[in-house]
Amino acid sequence: MTKTAYSHRHWNLYMNKMNFFLLHIALITSLISCTGASNNTIESISAKTSEDSIVSDTIIPEYPDIAKEYLLGKFNPQNDTMFVKVPSQYCLLRVEYIHKDVLEPFIAMYEAAAKEGINLGIISAVRTFDTQKWLWNQRYYNSSDPKAVVKSILSYLAMPGTSRHHWGTDIDMMNTKLNFFETEEGKKSYQWLKDHAAEFGFYQVYTAGRPTGYKEEKWHWSYMPVAKEFQKQYREKITYKDITGFNGSETAEDLNVIEDYVFGTDTVNI
Ligand SMILES: [Zn+2]
Repeated sequence: MTKTAYSHRHWNLYMNKMNFFLLHIALITSLISCTGASNNTIESISAKTSEDSIVSDTIIPEYPDIAKEYLLGKFNPQNDTMFVKVPSQYCLLRVEYIHKDVLEPFIAMYEAAAKEGINLGIISAVRTFDTQKWLWNQRYYNSSDPKAVVKSILSYLAMPGTSRHHWGTDIDMMNTKLNFFETEEGKKSYQWLKDHAAEFGFYQVYTAGRPTGYKEEKWHWSYMPVAKEFQKQYREKITYKDITGFNGSETAEDLNVIEDYVFGTDTVNI
C-alpha cells in the first residue's frame, strides 16, 4: 500500500470526523439561535457528509477470521452474504458477483473514469474454485512433462484454490487481450488507472518486471484494503494439502505455486 493511499484514508477519516464535529456545532448553534440560517448550515453540512460517504468505505474493514473455504473459492456467491451482484451496467459480458465491501469503491472508480470517457466495465470478478477448475482443465493436457504444461498455463491463469479471483476483491476490467493495451483507448485507460486507481483503493498486482508469478496483467486490479486481509490469512492457513482436486495439482509444491504465484505480486508499488 502506498503512502498516498494511506494518507488519503487518514485524510478521509479526519474529514469524516470534522464533518461530524461541524454538524454538532451547527446543531448547537441552531438550538441557541433558532434561526433559519443555522438550519441551512445543517442542511448543507449534512449534504456534504452524504456526498463524502463514498470515502468512508476506504476505511479498512475488519476480517478477524476468514474461513479457508473463502480463501480457496469453495462457496456459492449467489447465496452467500459475503458477495453481492454487480449491477449489469458495470459488466461487459455476464452477471458478476463481487465482495460486498468492494462494490461501492469500484462504482466510485468506474464513475470517475466514465467522466473522462473511459469504460472500466468488468470482464470477470469473483470466480469459484469450480469455475477456475473448469478454465484450468480446459487448458491442461496430458504430457510426459506435466510441470512444463502447468508452467505454461500459469502464464496467465491461476491454479484452482490459488486465484485472487476467489476472494471477490480482484477484478478484470475492460479487455483481457494484450493488443487492446496497444490501442489509443487501451493506453488511455491504463494510464488513467495508473494515475487514479489508488485513490479508490485499487492496485495492479501483476505488474511488469516482477521476478516470479504470472505475466503482466494490465486488466487485473485488486482492492487492497480487503485483499490484503485475504493475503495475510491465506499465508497463515493454506498449505499444499489444500491445493488439490484438478489436473496437474501434484506439481503445485514443486513449482512453488503459493510463494511464487499467490505471493508473486507487486511489492514495489503497493
Ligand atoms: Zn484476473
